[in-house]
Amino acid sequence: MQKQMKDNILKKFEELFGNEGKLYTSSGRINLIGEHTDYNGGYVFPGAIDCGILAKINPNGTDKVRVFSIDFNEYSEFGLEESDIPAQSWARYVFGVCRETLKRGGKVEGFDAVFAGDVPLGAGLSSSAALESTFAFALNLIFKNGFDKMELALIGQSTEHNYCGVKCGLMDQFISIFGKKNSLVRLDCKTLEYKYFPFNIQGYRLVLVDSCVKHELASSAYNKRRESCEKVRDAIKKRHPDVECLSDAKRIWLEEVRSEVSSEDFMRAEYVIGEVQRVLDVCDALERGDLETVGEMMYQTHFGLSRLYEVSCEELDFLNHLARKMDVTGSRVMGGGFGGCTINLVKDALYDNFIKEAEEQFEAKFGHKPKIYDVVISDGAHIVE
Ligand code: ADP
Ligand code: MG
Repeated sequence: MQKQMKDNILKKFEELFGNEGKLYTSSGRINLIGEHTDYNGGYVFPGAIDCGILAKINPNGTDKVRVFSIDFNEYSEFGLEESDIPAQSWARYVFGVCRETLKRGGKVEGFDAVFAGDVPLGAGLSSSAALESTFAFALNLIFKNGFDKMELALIGQSTEHNYCGVKCGLMDQFISIFGKKNSLVRLDCKTLEYKYFPFNIQGYRLVLVDSCVKHELASSAYNKRRESCEKVRDAIKKRHPDVECLSDAKRIWLEEVRSEVSSEDFMRAEYVIGEVQRVLDVCDALERGDLETVGEMMYQTHFGLSRLYEVSCEELDFLNHLARKMDVTGSRVMGGGFGGCTINLVKDALYDNFIKEAEEQFEAKFGHKPKIYDVVISDGAHIVE
């Protein structure tokens, strides 16, 4: 977290509200593998990263929340009733967290806050979860509510659903709260069981290459993919009644229904069932310290997302292909698809050259440079001393 950001927050807080209060932070995230598995009840495998939201917060003894966003250079003041919803969209995240805490029987009273962040907005690193988690975590401590971590993640998720119009899964808020330095966490999206795995990548770096494109298709395609998955699950369920989600199905069970589903739906399911297995394989590989296998699985995921699930695009396939050509250890599109970033596992020795080539070749073909984000797996929500 940049020192500049902290200094700005402290200065602004003093100017507006005085000297009391503590600093709280939470992180953005990457997902190493496990894409489009969440709504199929499968695994995701995220980690918190070294960029996030930092907030100084202090209760003010009133029934008003007074909050300043450094990055938007805007002030918002609101009460804590449902009808007090603020106009600024960034303030709705803070308001939503207050409301969701109250709805769960927690206490929230007025407070003052100044915050800033260094997660790029809308790049797929979940700046919004970092924001929600920072406040959910802080309010829980300040007002001594005693919610457990999973409840705090759920508060963030409900904030997106009920106050920001985003019907997201739980992964982003989960990892922003639960993330640990040098660990990834495998989350079972059906049961919410989770397990930490070591992520020690000495000699390698994790780097995101942001295509900076967003193709319109994303939301309609997303709904169509979900429908395909449900159709195949229903077909399999007829023979194997225990199957609740597509992720419960074995590959051979998919084969049994080949003639009963469309070839397109079959391909979608083939990707999902393969992806669930790949998450498990990557976890095993990490426990052995076998990063080559991790990387190979990332390429397989990209292939599946591009050719079977068909949610990639020219720009992302270009970046993936370039990574493969340059012997980058692993590379795949991260997130829903149709734009955004690739996540790359790159050997130190190859790093400079890969970035240079990615920037130059991408720009030559698509007319603009991609953005590069180096990330380090770091702690999730915590107090900053
Ligand atoms: P992302 O994929 O980064 O989560 P979203 O569109 O879900 O993108 O969330 C971005 C929104 O979250 C912003 O428009 C803003 O309202 C809020 N937000 C994120 N980071 C900040 C920040 N540093 N300061 C103020 N608001 C922020
Ligand atoms: Mg978001």
